[in-house]
Amino acid sequence: MRLKSIELSGFKSFAKKTPLEFASSITSIVGPNGSGKSNIAESFRFVLGEQSMKSMRGRRGEDMIWNGSAAVPRAGRAGVKLVFDNSDRALNLDFDEVSIERVVHRDGVNDYLLNGSIVRLRDVAELLSQANIGSSGHHIISQGEADRVLTASSRERREMIEDALGLTAYLYKREEAGRKLDKTAENMREVQALRRELAPHLKFLGAQVKKIEQAQALREDLAVLYAEYLKREQTYVSITKKELAGELHEPSAEHKTLSERINHLRVSLSKKLDDKGASELVRLEEESRAVAKKQEAANRELGAVEGELRAHERLAKEAGGTVPVAEARGFAERVLKELEAGGNIAALVVLAKEFLRRLTHTPTAGHSKGELETKKAQLEKELAHLRTQEEHTRHAVAKLRKELESEKDLSRDAERELFAAMARRSELETSLAGLRAREEMLKRDEEQYKQEFREAAVLLGHLPETEVLFDDEPREAQAERRRKLERLKIRLEEAGLGNSTEVLREHQETTERDAFLERELQDLELSAGKLRQLIEELTKTLETRFVDGIDKINTEFEKFFKLMFGGGSASLAIVKDKKLRRGAGEAHDGDEEEIVDTDIEVEEGVEISIALPHKRIKGLHMLSGGERALTSIALIFAMSQVNPPPFLILDETDAALDEANSRRYGDMIETLARHSQLIVITHNRETMSRAGVLYGITMGSDGVSKLLSVKFEEALAVAK
Ligand code: ATP
Repeated sequence: MRLKSIELSGFKSFAKKTPLEFASSITSIVGPNGSGKSNIAESFRFVLGEQSMKSMRGRRGEDMIWNGSAAVPRAGRAGVKLVFDNSDRALNLDFDEVSIERVVHRDGVNDYLLNGSIVRLRDVAELLSQANIGSSGHHIISQGEADRVLTASSRERREMIEDALGLTAYLYKREEAGRKLDKTAENMREVQALRRELAPHLKFLGAQVKKIEQAQALREDLAVLYAEYLKREQTYVSITKKELAGELHEPSAEHKTLSERINHLRVSLSKKLDDKGASELVRLEEESRAVAKKQEAANRELGAVEGELRAHERLAKEAGGTVPVAEARGFAERVLKELEAGGNIAALVVLAKEFLRRLTHTPTAGHSKGELETKKAQLEKELAHLRTQEEHTRHAVAKLRKELESEKDLSRDAERELFAAMARRSELETSLAGLRAREEMLKRDEEQYKQEFREAAVLLGHLPETEVLFDDEPREAQAERRRKLERLKIRLEEAGLGNSTEVLREHQETTERDAFLERELQDLELSAGKLRQLIEELTKTLETRFVDGIDKINTEFEKFFKLMFGGGSASLAIVKDKKLRRGAGEAHDGDEEEIVDTDIEVEEGVEISIALPHKRIKGLHMLSGGERALTSIALIFAMSQVNPPPFLILDETDAALDEANSRRYGDMIETLARHSQLIVITHNRETMSRAGVLYGITMGSDGVSKLLSVKFEEALAVAK
């Protein structure tokens, strides 16, 4: 990569567009004091992105813009453009020529352009760092600032050396990685915050889902239990129904038969002959008594008739004697008297015999024998008839009595049967009532079963198939099952599965979101880890390169130092400055505990030690102006030698050198020019003589710096 040209327009004293070509490896800029030479050096700083106005002798951006003079009006903007030949692609851009331009406007706004396109300052800085053009400007040595490397703090010095060693690119990378790490950490905090925010909701949803799952399990348990319960109930109802029907069959039939029999017995018992038979018997007995009376009367009459007939026969034999009536009457009265006195049979027999003796001697008067005989036959006939009649009645009574007797027996049997039947029937009715009650209960069970079946269908949709054998378990087991069902139903109700699908969906979404965030966090952690590793690696690289670089610089430093001073020695050393840094406690005044809790920060810096030949001087502060200039030139050149920058600008770095040292300086310039393009602003003839191209700067009364290419001899004239 080679610096082709720089073009100033409106920058400081360069009011007009002024291009400088750098065709040679050493370009010298000469001119009288105040003509604008240093403005050119500063234009390099400017275009390379210098942010410190002070280092460009200004206070603000506007100070960089041509401020006008009596002859030339002030400009609105200052622009500087650098052009590089990039055919070796040292700058990572696919262009043979790369231009970098910076423009500052009066309002202080800066534009950076890369090949004409607006870019960020960072883009410019990063691009240049690839070509070892760092931002510390170590390759632009301003007027009077050559010993800056000596006056700087060890830490600043370290930065300058890092820059010179081309470690800026690594530093940029490390910074970039650090920024990314910060950003990653911030993202991680955000993601963590999001997860923290999500956590209680997720926890809540998780608990809900658990409840829902428990309820689902409950529902499944319920379905299984319901299925068994209902199946058992159905089996129970149908089997018990059959059983009851079987048990009812016989007693019902018997009851029916018994009822019929009872009715029949009742009917037949109500038809008994008792009363009718008794009155008939009375009638028959009266009839019998009447016949007996008639028989007695007929017998008495027959006796009288037969007596008369016998009297007739005696009379006939004895010529008839009769018994006086008075005598008969007397006999009857005595018989009666005897009867009334208690009736002595023997006395009555005496009486009767006597009377009969008398009668035998008393003839009857009145009736003829024929009449008496007719009468006798008549009476005998009558008696025979009465005897038949009596016989007949006696038979009838006996028959009736027998009939009545047997009827009485019959009705007693019927009654016995009736009572037995009624007893049996009431016995049957009791057991039938029991059976009916069971039937009634079963009917209720069946109703309940149907109701429960409907309920289960509504509650559970469908029931699992189940095979339940009727294992004749006690009915209580089924009741226990139902109580369990009720308890399950209550628990299910309490679980309240209202908007379960919504909760499940939200839980899933939230879980997914959380998982996404977790993955993102893992990714972030991974990239944070990678970044930390990168930073560590870069730090290591920087460390080794730095240590390595210091070694190399030391070799060159020693060489240049000896060359400049004709002896002595010089070296750089890495030092670790321990610095107490107050922690958070700083914000809380007087908080001793916090102050005690401080960090010790180790800062690495670079110290310079020198030993002049034949002198005992060791400290930098004891050097003369010239010695200081020589020491800093030795160091600057050593740095540039180890890692040559594309170009090096030296603004009157040689001002303090005497003739002998000017020559040595000239030699060193030529050595450096092998690897870097040199732009030297100088009044020194020796230095001028080493340049391939010379530019003379002049300033007229218009205050505008003008550029002219000059020959060596002309340059000497211009410089004066
Ligand atoms: P020396 O040899 O004495 O170091 P030099 O050639 O380096 O001088 P510079 O310091 O580059 O001279 O130029 C200084 C000149 O530039 C001054 O005359 C100053 O007035 C002029 N100048 C600086 N800034 C501006 C500006 N913004 N507008 C116009 N002129 C400016």
